[in-house]
Amino acid sequence: MSWDFSTEPEFERKLEWMRTFVREQIWPLETLWGELGWEGLRQAGRPLQDQVKEQGLWAAHLDPELGGQGFGQVKLGLMHEILGSSPIAPLMFGNAAPDSGNSEILAMAGTPEQKDRYLHPLLAGDLKSAFSMTEPETAGSDPTLLSTRATRDGDGWVVNGHKWFSTNGSIADFLIVMAVTDPDARPHQRASMFIVDADAPGVKVVRDVATMEHPDESFGNYGNHAEIRYEDVRIPKDALLGAEGAGFLIAQQRLYPGRIHHCMRWLGVARRAFDMLCERSLYRYSHGTTLGKHQTVQNWIADSEAEMQAARLLTLHAAWKMDAEGVAAARKEIALIKFYGAKVLHDVVDRALQAHGGLGYSTDLPLEAMYRFARGARIYDGPDEVHRASVARQVLRGYEAPADGVPTEYIPARREVAQRQFAEVLEAVTAND
Ligand SMILES: Cc1cc2nc3c(=O)[nH]c(=O)nc-3n(C[C@H](O)[C@H](O)[C@H](O)COP(=O)(O)OP(=O)(O)OC[C@H]3O[C@@H](n4cnc5c(N)ncnc54)[C@H](O)[C@@H]3O)c2cc1C
Repeated sequence: MSWDFSTEPEFERKLEWMRTFVREQIWPLETLWGELGWEGLRQAGRPLQDQVKEQGLWAAHLDPELGGQGFGQVKLGLMHEILGSSPIAPLMFGNAAPDSGNSEILAMAGTPEQKDRYLHPLLAGDLKSAFSMTEPETAGSDPTLLSTRATRDGDGWVVNGHKWFSTNGSIADFLIVMAVTDPDARPHQRASMFIVDADAPGVKVVRDVATMEHPDESFGNYGNHAEIRYEDVRIPKDALLGAEGAGFLIAQQRLYPGRIHHCMRWLGVARRAFDMLCERSLYRYSHGTTLGKHQTVQNWIADSEAEMQAARLLTLHAAWKMDAEGVAAARKEIALIKFYGAKVLHDVVDRALQAHGGLGYSTDLPLEAMYRFARGARIYDGPDEVHRASVARQVLRGYEAPADGVPTEYIPARREVAQRQFAEVLEAVTAND
């Protein structure tokens, strides 16, 4: 089957609009983010969000009946590549994580009432949400170990558990919480998803966890990661999202397209760092010439260009496969780009930072922030090792162990077979000797 990542000229015009808009309207705002804080950023962003809506590009990941564009993954990927160049651009386009993934969950699994109460205001930008799955006490890499429990209580449920790294948890109006509803069920049918209002009694946001990306202690900022205790949180029956026991199924549906968007956004970051690397190579003079004429720096440029191109094509291929054959068919391709894309992002940013020396290490350039951001990519949405293992498992399904324990390519055995197969020729050749 041939692959086709092309898009129609009309969409290319939209991408061009996005490139200019992001560079001219959003990049400048980045430098004021610290002073503005979350509320200021929200205010400054409103006129920008209006322009995005006028272009018909708001919340484009959703189906048209929900105000999205039903673009499919290839187009969304190309769009995310542009938005990824700025940490605040996705917010201006109504597709910032985790709201984007949460809106997909609500669109997919929500009842009409849940959509009215949560999804529509979320899409309008009137509500914020968080996805609350990872726990400090259990391995996030193996979510079948989750310990947060939701037990039936009369007509509703009571949730008890301890979560952390719930991104935007401290500014969220509601949280989508993954909790075990049947500990005796098969591992992937034990958990369910619930919508929990952030102001429900018993929801205790303990703190925002300071991280490598945001090392200063702060609370209630956009992009922070909250530690939350759920203590006897009573929620009604209709807080259940989707079917009981369908938590993992829904999570997978959310995470697969999300990974394509992550990878394309990382390429946007990598490209911005790469542009800085190339610019630096042309003017920084050392040891008799500019950096771009030293072979090591040339290698950095060539390797980065090749790796970004490889990651881009791998990601677009995964997106195309998902569009053409569905989520399940693209599982291997998506796992592949998750760890490969994270490495490319890291390596390109690292080279760009190195080429800038002390300036690259300083906060006068965005490279050190990109570097800290890049490190997280190897962990969230499943660490590298889990995705590598998944790729290897899927690849190995296409192979069989030799029944006799002898490698298929074992030359002595192959020679014996070949001697029988070509016996006549061999005899003729030997007779001529
Ligand atoms: C920036 C950021 C944002 C996040 N946002 C959210 C969010 O919004 N909501 C949410 O619920 N969670 C979120 N997380 C949490 C994230 O999903 C988890 O950190 C991740 O799944 C890993 O789980 P863990 O931290 O418990 O690490 P562990 O599961 O304890 O794993 C630690 C390490 O063990 C190794 N390891 C694990 N399994 C294997 C294996 N099978 N083979 C080999 N090595 C292995 C890996 O090196 C791994 O890094 C976020 C994390 C980060 C960093």
